[in-house]
Amino acid sequence: MSTTTTPTGTPAGTPLRTAIVTGGAAGIGRQIAERLAADGHRVVCADVVQHDLPALDLAALPAEPGLVWMPLDVTDHAAVGAAFDAVAAATGSIDVLVNNAGIQRHRGIEDLSWDEWKAVVDVNLHGVFTCLQAAGRHMLAAGSGAIVNISSVSARGSAGRAPYSTTKAAVIGLTSTAGAEWAARGVRVNAVAPGYIDTGVFRQGVAAGTLKEETILARIPAGRLADASEIANAVSWLVSDQSQYVIGQTLYVDGGFIVDY
Ligand code: NDP
Repeated sequence: MSTTTTPTGTPAGTPLRTAIVTGGAAGIGRQIAERLAADGHRVVCADVVQHDLPALDLAALPAEPGLVWMPLDVTDHAAVGAAFDAVAAATGSIDVLVNNAGIQRHRGIEDLSWDEWKAVVDVNLHGVFTCLQAAGRHMLAAGSGAIVNISSVSARGSAGRAPYSTTKAAVIGLTSTAGAEWAARGVRVNAVAPGYIDTGVFRQGVAAGTLKEETILARIPAGRLADASEIANAVSWLVSDQSQYVIGQTLYVDGGFIVDY
């Protein structure tokens, strides 16, 4: 008799796992959330805007895999702690965290305001640390869990986006450090560094003139932008049991962009 499996091979009938995806209501985060739901997760999309998602009701948790929205600003340290504690108490565990929320500001270093710098660092670095620590504490207590942080090829440097590239590089350091600290206690931490995808961050860069679409396309060996589903595939694998021995790594999903960087 054959066994029904999810796209990553999880046998049907395994207990419902809980995943939190920050910035999961739109863009790449939404694609990641939908993929994790297809893999059998109850996915909490922790985002500032609800978009078209049903709101999470902790007193009536979804019994089936799917997406729900939880209001959250990742820069609000106290609110993140309280929200993650509430999710863990209601569901029994936080099995997966994807730190996806990210913003950027487009300006040369000499013209960048202190507020612009701090806004990006607050979301892209402090927000990632806050969520990683809050979810990590529950995962460590349970002795299992998987975290994926979304970095970027811009971690190598991106003219006109200093705070963005700086925070994306810092996320790689945080990922390898957390991966090393927590590996022996059952919690795996890895990162995905996407190339360019036709979603929010890329479109804003093109509109601001910081990113030149034709120049970027000419530099991508694959000859095209990534599809957000290709980033979701990588995340799905990194949080699955198929990548158990992958610890603290950054997986570039970039069509070969950084090969000649
Ligand atoms: P989007 O702007 O489309 O999506 C980002 C999501 O994060 C939005 O839903 C946004 O909410 C949410 N968000 C922003 N600030 C906060 C906050 N403080 N707390 C909670 N949620 C927040 O961006 P992308 O989908 O393009 O990018 C997603 C991730 O992928 C980012 O980390 C980005 O840096 C990374 N990335 C993107 C690439 C690209 O080419 N697009 C390339 C490489 C990496 P709202 O809708 O309200 O703004």
